[in-house]
Amino acid sequence: MAEVLVYVDHVDGAVRKPTLELLTLARRVGEPVAVALGNGAGDTAATLAEHGAVKVLTHEASEYADYLVVPKVDALQAAVESVSAAGSLAAVLVPSSAEGKEIAARLALRIGSGIITDAVDLEAGDEGPVATQSVFAASYTTKSRISKGTPVITVKPNSAAVEAAPAAGAVEALTVSFSDKATGTKVTGRTPRESTGRPELTEAAIVVSGGRGVNGAENFAIIEALADSLGAAVGASRAAVDAGWYPHTNQVGQTGKSVSPQLYIASGISGAIQHRAGMQTSKTIVAINKDAEAPIFELVDYGVVGDLFDVVPALTEEVKAR
Ligand code: FAD
Repeated sequence: MAEVLVYVDHVDGAVRKPTLELLTLARRVGEPVAVALGNGAGDTAATLAEHGAVKVLTHEASEYADYLVVPKVDALQAAVESVSAAGSLAAVLVPSSAEGKEIAARLALRIGSGIITDAVDLEAGDEGPVATQSVFAASYTTKSRISKGTPVITVKPNSAAVEAAPAAGAVEALTVSFSDKATGTKVTGRTPRESTGRPELTEAAIVVSGGRGVNGAENFAIIEALADSLGAAVGASRAAVDAGWYPHTNQVGQTGKSVSPQLYIASGISGAIQHRAGMQTSKTIVAINKDAEAPIFELVDYGVVGDLFDVVPALTEEVKAR
């Protein structure tokens, strides 16, 4: 059976959820071989093995933290070459974060392959893996296959369920020689964002978003209260962000972040095409809007016509009571 390389997104050995989702998808098209780089790479092995990695290629070097993405591209290229030389490689899967997409694009160029970004599903096909994407502001769903080289595919968080699938997970050291370009851009400092204690927006299973209808920065407290009762992340429409009510890092949409949670709750958001572009692939969509004609109601699974200042606190109380 062909192997599938899965790029591991981890923080000091703690594997992030989108990587575990990639392992679920990878098993549909081949045998997952994980590539873990940087500080704590070896510590990822047990978790990766529990989720189906037959092998874990690791390489720890300070270059991964000290420089931008190129050392990681060097390492993935080395992994592609080593797996291809030993057998057959069906695909390379990378999480669709900003960094993941840059790594994937550079890798595809290096190895002369086609690339598919922001896939929301993946299945085996007669002529290679077939990826599903949501395109043109989520107006269409397309299925595509790469016809040139080893497919490089980035997958959006929450596109698959995390599944336990115990496998060998044998750890093997990857041999990497860094290119000159790898040391081109040095990281001179890192400023961690103040933690809100809420999940990362793009990875959250539930997102509660507020729009212009929230009518003020201080009123976002009711959106946050609902989010906290559900263990959710908080999102915002561009109107709310442009008004200065919520940080741009929380904007959902075409010029913000793209989310695909199990549950998306839009409060006081009209449902403009640019907002839909960032949330339409959510599994279940709920909208709270006082205008029954608001376009958001065209795409919801459940709609509440009402004033969010009544509905959202009542919902929060109901969730807390359960
Ligand atoms: P509005 O459209 O003003 O809607 C507010 C809604 O709140 C209304 O439906 C109203 O009925 C409801 N409401 C008001 N009061 C209450 C209440 N008390 N209770 C319940 N409901 C209430 N937008 C994004 O969101 N993300 C993007 O990334 C993005 N990118 C863009 C890129 C470009 C190039 C352009 C041109 C636009 C972009 N936009 C984006 C903006 C987008 O077109 C809309 O203007 C924006 O999404 C509107 O935000 P909103 O729904 O919060 O506000």
